[in-house]
Amino acid sequence: MSPARAAKKTAEFVWLNGELEPWDSATLHVSTVAATGHFNVFEGIKAYLGSDGDTLNVFGLAAHIRRLAASMKLTRMACRWTEDELCQAVVDLLRKNGTREDSYIRPVAFFSGLQHADFPSELNAEPEVLIWTRPFKTTLGTDRALACQVSSWTRLTDNQMPPRIKTMSNYQNNRLAALEARTNGYDSAVLLGPDGKVTEGPGACVFIVRDGVALTPPVTAGILESVTRAAVMRLLSELDVRMVERPIDRTELYLADEAFFCGTGWEILPITSFDRLPVGNGEMGPLTRNLDRLYHDAVRGARARDREWLTRV
Ligand code: PMP
Repeated sequence: MSPARAAKKTAEFVWLNGELEPWDSATLHVSTVAATGHFNVFEGIKAYLGSDGDTLNVFGLAAHIRRLAASMKLTRMACRWTEDELCQAVVDLLRKNGTREDSYIRPVAFFSGLQHADFPSELNAEPEVLIWTRPFKTTLGTDRALACQVSSWTRLTDNQMPPRIKTMSNYQNNRLAALEARTNGYDSAVLLGPDGKVTEGPGACVFIVRDGVALTPPVTAGILESVTRAAVMRLLSELDVRMVERPIDRTELYLADEAFFCGTGWEILPITSFDRLPVGNGEMGPLTRNLDRLYHDAVRGARARDREWLTRV
């Protein structure tokens, strides 16, 4: 098999349609649309090793599975499993794999038999559900930061391809922005909506800080309803930092004192410039650093108050 087609084995088992299936036999035929993922809905979830170095906890599991159910509803998929059953499936899979390290978890609902864009045949049909995992290395607590471009690509809108649905087909929009940014020598991008207002990054929500106030676009701005964004809001209120959800202008990015992305994959990731104009002094700001530390403690279960976000494996 060519390297482009070989899927890297990242664990011994996957959870597939109710069974804990060995990785090697959980295969699909290349002719299926599912193999390229166009009409799927999916989630990205993380499990972190606890601060005791022993327990493994999934962060925001119920919220992610709720969003998966929302994506399924909006794409008129029927689901054979309840949200509780899918949460349990994630736990069962991590247990079966004996996972004892920081891990990324990817549930995907897809139609494996679909070989053409035969939309009516999948109306209210039950998709297959696959859950697979891989280890990842956190960047929390590091100085990793991104130079961003304001993308020339416009973010999708709710009445075209709703960004609220976490479906891989939406990610062509994000991908074009990310590729453009890399081509132009930036690390990543922020996309504006058709109204010229800030939406989000290719794989994360965005916050800026101006005059001590944390600003983020509302969930109606063409963004994914992010689990991490909700967690950040709670951490900001704990820090007594004023937080406002409102439309953000492009020029406010250039005037921000601090800026950061937040998301399951990207965690808390400082943005140190937009279009080469430095954010603040061009380094990770103090509030971003504080949030990075608090989020790190939250995902690792270091503080009792965050435990409601964690599901112990
Ligand atoms: N926006 C986009 C486009 C994303 O891909 C992600 C990552 N899932 C997010 C925002 C952040 O969402 P969450 O915090 O739920 O991971």
